[in-house]
Amino acid sequence: MSEQAAIKLEAGKVIEPARATPVVREVDVLVCGGGVSGVGAAIGAARSGAKTMVIERNAFLGGAATAVIMNTWNVPLAKMTGVAKEIAEKLTERGAGVASGPTFPFDPEAFKELAMELMNNESVEILTYTWVVEPIMDGNRIKGVIVQNKSGRQAILAKTVVDCTGDADIASAAGAEFVKGREKDEKMRPMSVLFRLGGVDVKRAVEFCKKNPANFTADPNFHILDLDSGLVRMSGFFDIVDKARANGELADEIHYIRFEGISVDRGIVTVNNSRVYNVDGTNAWDLTRADLEARRQNRQLYAVIKNNIPGFENSFVMDSSPTVGVRETRRVRGPHLLQQEDMMALATYPDSVARIWRHMAAGRDWHKADGGEGAATDEVYRTGTTHLTWFEIPFGVLVPNKVEGMTIGGRALSATHDADMWSRAQYCCLVTGQVAGAAAALAAERGESPSHLDIRLLQQRLASAGIDVGDTSGTSKKAIA
Ligand SMILES: Cc1cc2nc3c(=O)[nH]c(=O)nc-3n(C[C@H](O)[C@H](O)[C@H](O)COP(=O)(O)OP(=O)(O)OC[C@H]3O[C@@H](n4cnc5c(N)ncnc54)[C@H](O)[C@@H]3O)c2cc1C
Repeated sequence: MSEQAAIKLEAGKVIEPARATPVVREVDVLVCGGGVSGVGAAIGAARSGAKTMVIERNAFLGGAATAVIMNTWNVPLAKMTGVAKEIAEKLTERGAGVASGPTFPFDPEAFKELAMELMNNESVEILTYTWVVEPIMDGNRIKGVIVQNKSGRQAILAKTVVDCTGDADIASAAGAEFVKGREKDEKMRPMSVLFRLGGVDVKRAVEFCKKNPANFTADPNFHILDLDSGLVRMSGFFDIVDKARANGELADEIHYIRFEGISVDRGIVTVNNSRVYNVDGTNAWDLTRADLEARRQNRQLYAVIKNNIPGFENSFVMDSSPTVGVRETRRVRGPHLLQQEDMMALATYPDSVARIWRHMAAGRDWHKADGGEGAATDEVYRTGTTHLTWFEIPFGVLVPNKVEGMTIGGRALSATHDADMWSRAQYCCLVTGQVAGAAAALAAERGESPSHLDIRLLQQRLASAGIDVGDTSGTSKKAIA
């Protein structure tokens, strides 16, 4: 080891000496976080001509789509746009996605491969196994980040940085305004570890569902039994769950069973059911606790599923998500705040950069921070239905207040807790990621901060990249100045 100043311990705190950190890269656009939005951002930036790099703490890209094996988008292929549509089409061509109906399930492993392939095609430099730990600031302007990995601590400089960490890790450390969780009390949606079962006779399970319709949610987009097209999603099994709960076989947090991302022919089913409440995804101790608790719930769930649901008798646990899935943490505050009422009213904005379609309904919240999801008292879940609708993304939700040189993609964009229920969806995160990446590239090219971009020029660039930018003649007073 080289000689260096000693680390001192003083009054319960460690004093680290100042140190010189080597600059290992200088790029146009640096994407922090290679998850769902990070993949979109890197492609969006690279296709706009920027020298682009993406940094990811995991060994692979894809975020919730791969590290949480969460593999269903609530939007039909016909309504998708941009890179998200391209990804859905490619997955379908490869037999790794079902694009025949209202939702789009896919194989997470194929998503993982495709994400890497797309980065290579666009000459995006990938650095995995690497944590982004700190922004490098010049006043309120970000100039790059410090990363930490097996090689030690290094600096990467960039003309523009895109925060796609999901948790606004970089934006918040850079001084951006943010809100964590629900506005009134900072409570956040529950965490989950997902798992997949193989060896399932899906056809038998579908027959059981058809014979017991009262035992399932009424929403035709969440309970789909279309064996002909290969699109199957099951949500309910209320009687089985009630009995198991009464026998002490299931955790109190579980009120229904939900199978999605189903491959009928291969007999593979994703179980999205563990629920851990009152945990904070920006706290490592909570993440550990949530992971352990979710895995405990999953062991119970598997036993109940195997022993009670026809078609699952010979099922086996194929895999579980490598990481616990975090649904909600920080959201930045930008010049525009996305609000549910505006989405429901189909508000349009002059600075709209994407129109997002999805199945939704007024006031729908599937993952309430208070729990009780899918319980008999949860009428929204049991009897409510969704319909295909759209909302616009104004550019003002993709730039943080108080920090220059940065855009935000994915679930950390500027939205209220209620609006987050609409904007946190994977498909939306891919699209906002692509927009945030393209905007970062344009800003780098023009030597400007993204918050000062010519929105019309950005909209033209996005439209020529195949993104449905929406109705930009909108007159909403909430658009950024
Ligand atoms: C359990 C669960 C179920 C869900 N169900 C659905 C569903 O059914 N349908 C749907 O559409 N959406 C669903 N979602 C929501 C959706 O998947 C997420 O909101 C979306 O993936 C968020 O995208 P993102 O890019 O913002 O974050 P992520 O996809 O989480 O990506 C963030 C990436 O950044 C990396 N990262 C974070 N911090 C750092 C750092 N400091 N340094 C380096 N890398 C970092 C992470 O490893 C990750 O790869 C679900 C989410 C969860 C957790």
